[in-house]
Amino acid sequence: MTDSFSNLSLAEPLARAVAEMGYESMTPIQAQAIPVVLTGKDVMGAAQTGTGKTAAFSLPLLQRLLKHENTSTSPARHPVRALVLLPTRELADQVAQQIKLYAKYTQMRSAVVFGGMDMKPQTLELKKGVEILVATPGRLLDHIEAKNAVLNQVEYVVLDEADRMLDIGFLPDLQRILSFLPKQRTTLLFSATFSPEIKRLAGSYLQDPITIEVARPNETASTVEQRFYSAQDDDKRRVVKAVLNQRGIKQAFIFVNSKLGCGRLARSLEREGLVTAALHGDKTQDERLKALEAFKKGEVDLLVCTDVAARGLDIKDVPAVFNFDVPFNAEDYVHRIGRTGRAGASGLAVTLVSPSDMRLVADIEKLIKTKLQVESYPLEEDRSRGNLGEGRLEERSEGRREDRRPERGFERRRDEDAPRDRRSSFRPPQVSRDPFFEKPYETPSMAQAAAASWEASPKATASRSGISANIKPKRKVAALFKSGE
Ligand code: AMP
Repeated sequence: MTDSFSNLSLAEPLARAVAEMGYESMTPIQAQAIPVVLTGKDVMGAAQTGTGKTAAFSLPLLQRLLKHENTSTSPARHPVRALVLLPTRELADQVAQQIKLYAKYTQMRSAVVFGGMDMKPQTLELKKGVEILVATPGRLLDHIEAKNAVLNQVEYVVLDEADRMLDIGFLPDLQRILSFLPKQRTTLLFSATFSPEIKRLAGSYLQDPITIEVARPNETASTVEQRFYSAQDDDKRRVVKAVLNQRGIKQAFIFVNSKLGCGRLARSLEREGLVTAALHGDKTQDERLKALEAFKKGEVDLLVCTDVAARGLDIKDVPAVFNFDVPFNAEDYVHRIGRTGRAGASGLAVTLVSPSDMRLVADIEKLIKTKLQVESYPLEEDRSRGNLGEGRLEERSEGRREDRRPERGFERRRDEDAPRDRRSSFRPPQVSRDPFFEKPYETPSMAQAAAASWEASPKATASRSGISANIKPKRKVAALFKSGE
């Protein structure tokens, strides 16, 4: 039996929308989750953005809600029936756009609310009545407090990217939001990892959930050439430029660990003649959208970004990814390099390793179960010439001025946008030792076969990036659980 959507007996308007999307078969998470969600059971799904997860929860959810479909203009006939919570605006926007496409031939209304935007247009939309509400937690709470959103008729709640929501410190907001929902409901939780905190969240809010796990994309290694080059901070830009030149690479993602470093690196590369855009949480919505569109159109060579800003961006076929900073969390490495070498294309992932990063590299080795070689990159001795020298000097002076200033959220448990300061006492978190993750991954052949059939589809939805203005550093997750809901 193939994993065809026709096996699902979806209602005609939904089947038509799926056919229009051009999907040939279900992705692994869809094949596993859709039949379960159709039964109304709670689900705990280990799947990342990019796996087809949005359709995995929204198609069955729409199907179940079709019984409420009506054409009345009365807002009372369109209460919120499904709530989808996500950590960032760009993800919320991306998911909302997809839901709109799936619901296109139904009468179901959907809307998205997230921070950093005027509340008024969102309020008007909410007041008209929407069945499916996609939101970031902070802004949703603003609307609840303003009595724009009433959640007492919610039948489905989706906690998407739950691990990120906890990392960012959204647990108290989530707890408050969940306290407004009816007890009788279906809860779907999706997370890239099942850390003890996630399991505890599930224990508190899910009832007898069915656990669904799809292969995590660590096996991109076969199509992605992974290189680790040792480089002092001052030499990293030169290595990036040399690799780009040597390999004739026109476009790449460059990942950094902090917002500050992101803007700074983008500026330096720009001064060196590369068309560059920065994508991080402090950029306005408009700036992010423009940067992404320019990159997609090929007008920008290098997209310098933080993990939060880049998470889930639906951009395919990037020829190369650079880890200008080794990520604090090994799983982010897998996530970052998964942006290249998609759908069987070959890709290059270059990680620049300074001496203090060896422990992080060891974490990556452990996670991807591959011995990694840190090589030195032969740089020509042109250090004193041209803009590059100037840029480097300026970067150093900027570093002196700004690096010591504690930035908002620095004490966060794990925050991709937090500054990285090697002189500080900050200790990167360890990869989960949860036995769940000790399991070997699916064999590469299985994972690739599954990925190839659906990742090849060019159904890119427009996406925006960034982190909600509502995101504030919060208390430690474990401590909050102890105090109950
Ligand atoms: P998601 O993980 O939901 O963000 O989806 C990532 C991308 O995969 C989106 O561009 C979807 O349109 C696309 N997609 C979702 N399901 C399928 C499918 N069954 N076949 C092909 N592409 C899909």
